[in-house]
Amino acid sequence: MKPSSPPLASGLLLVLSAPSGAGKTTLARRLVQDAGDAIFSVSYTTRPPRGNEKDSVDYHFVDVGTFHEKIKRGEFVEWAEVHGHFYGSPRSIVEEALARRVMAIFDIDVQGGNAIKAAYPQAVLIFVLPPSLKELERRLRERNTEPEASIQARLLGARSEIEKGIDSYEYFIINENLSQAYGELQAIVLAERARKMRFDFSRLQLDWMPTKSRKAKT
Ligand code: 5GP
Repeated sequence: MKPSSPPLASGLLLVLSAPSGAGKTTLARRLVQDAGDAIFSVSYTTRPPRGNEKDSVDYHFVDVGTFHEKIKRGEFVEWAEVHGHFYGSPRSIVEEALARRVMAIFDIDVQGGNAIKAAYPQAVLIFVLPPSLKELERRLRERNTEPEASIQARLLGARSEIEKGIDSYEYFIINENLSQAYGELQAIVLAERARKMRFDFSRLQLDWMPTKSRKAKT
């Protein structure tokens, strides 16, 4: 998954979900950086920026009116209300990934991941787990960007997010040690890139086979 990664026969929609504090954003950003051909889906949100978050980098920060306009215009492939704020993934990212046959990475919650899977069954759902709820709480406090009430809400939400993820996701990574977790994520991505529906058989020069029979079935 370096800049020289072979091209794909069809786009790869990769969804990474986790309770906040499990480290999925770090993993997702690193994957985009290393993959060379990947697009990171920057979501729209009505929540105010936290810490040193930047507009159009971490999120597109918009007001509620603008968000609802975008819903009406069908600009989101999925959207949800999380902790009292709206979040939505731009449909344009999916379209770009499929048209350019590259990987798109969505750093979103479980309901969003399931909505993308319902619309695009070939999407890959990966869930990042913290080693324990205690460790999750420690990481949230260490981040020191939120009031106590918000930390408590996130901890409460974490339990149900983990249960929903275990119910519906396909791959799981425990993020105890970042470099090991990242290695596991890369292994999943490499395997998914090598699937028949995504493998670009036109790279091969199998001159004893007619081109038609080498085409990947989707
Ligand atoms: P945070 O406010 O901590 O950045 O995000 C809160 C939750 O919303 C996280 O679980 C995050 O993954 C999720 N989230 C971020 N963007 C989206 C999105 O576009 N759609 C959905 N469904 N969830 C999102």
